[in-house]
Amino acid sequence: MNFFAYRNGEMHAEGVALKTIAQQVGTPFYCYSAAALRAAWQEFADAMKGMNASLCYAVKANSNLAVIKLFGDLGVGADIVSVGEMRRALAAGIPAGRIVYSGVGKKASELMAALEAGVGQINVESSAELETLNAVAGQLGRKADITIRVNPDIDAGTHEKITTGLKENKFGIDIDLARGAFAKAGALPNLRVVGVAMHIGSQLTSLQPYRDAIVRVRSLIEDLRSDGHRIDRLDIGGGLGIVYADETPPSITEFVQVVGKETAGLGCELTFEPGRRLVGEAGVLVSEVILVKPGVFKTFVIVDAAMNDLIRPTLYDAWHDVLPVREPRPDAATIRCDIVGPICESGDYLAQNRDLPSLSAGELIMVRSAGAYGAVMASSYNSRPLVPEVMVDGTRFAITRPRPSIEEMIAAERIPPWMAQAG
Ligand SMILES: *Cc1c(COP(=O)(O)O)cnc(C)c1O
Repeated sequence: MNFFAYRNGEMHAEGVALKTIAQQVGTPFYCYSAAALRAAWQEFADAMKGMNASLCYAVKANSNLAVIKLFGDLGVGADIVSVGEMRRALAAGIPAGRIVYSGVGKKASELMAALEAGVGQINVESSAELETLNAVAGQLGRKADITIRVNPDIDAGTHEKITTGLKENKFGIDIDLARGAFAKAGALPNLRVVGVAMHIGSQLTSLQPYRDAIVRVRSLIEDLRSDGHRIDRLDIGGGLGIVYADETPPSITEFVQVVGKETAGLGCELTFEPGRRLVGEAGVLVSEVILVKPGVFKTFVIVDAAMNDLIRPTLYDAWHDVLPVREPRPDAATIRCDIVGPICESGDYLAQNRDLPSLSAGELIMVRSAGAYGAVMASSYNSRPLVPEVMVDGTRFAITRPRPSIEEMIAAERIPPWMAQAG
């Protein structure tokens, strides 16, 4: 089902014309479809029926409070990588017991905050973290439920900046060293080892790396059990890819079934931690054309969204589909163009070498599949206000993060007392 589609010549998010939102909110803005978010959740929920498994939304993909709350209201837990994300998950009503805390560099103060809040599981990624967590838990007189994240040395076949399960990546404990780490954890009095975690990368479009990783993790679990550890949980991580261009990622159902099959008989409760797959295709970025500049080789369409609003094209060489918000006539001529922002960087582009129907100043464009790692990675570079976010649900829409005013941005900063005050 397509939640973003042309109707009466205008692109709609569900029942709302993007043009209507643009008139009220201004551009650029992110727009999320609540029905699309629920549909992605529903597919996981249906596929997981009857399995001993739980779903934790990886908040870092899109940490807008309304998005977290939508999933939280459906009973989904949260996978977090910072105390800030923990606070968001709690603020959105997710019970602390359903929160899993991942991350390669957690500070003692952060571990303390997580234990005080009652976070359900901490995925430890290093031997040093085991010691820090043990000390912090001791100070609080608690026992921390942990898994150890292992690095299974599997190539996820994705972009180098989002692969995490190779020996050269900083994540997890090398699977060949994992038995030692579990032995250490088992001997620490304030830790309770409950399982093993993995997360091999993001935007995976094949299930084979998951199969290969689970085979390795299975044999580790057998070793760990023979060493006397209780391994009750297996955290599979996230990583399932979405469609940006012509990828053919596995369906959620296929993914869950393959994981179910590969872990059959293991007797572990599974945790799925999808981020991108739950939100990526449910969001778009809408921007207005400022001007069109013909060049010698191609035309530059300069729009009011930029790399600070959506950094994926320049950071990950990501390809996002760009469509005019007003439906082009089927026979409309196209021009070869780059869709670029107004920032003083050559890396400031949203799309390059596209053949689009000719656009003119004031027209709106929509950048597809921008719901994941879009707004969360936005900055205010060039003193551009942080891009606002909107949620549509049926024929309703609401601003879920307003655009800050320049006055608010300036008011958040301080002049050192030794400098002469302006004015
Ligand atoms: C980022 C992350 C996820 C989610 O990854 P996606 O590719 O967005 O599904 C899940 N688990 C952990 C530990 C992560 O760091």
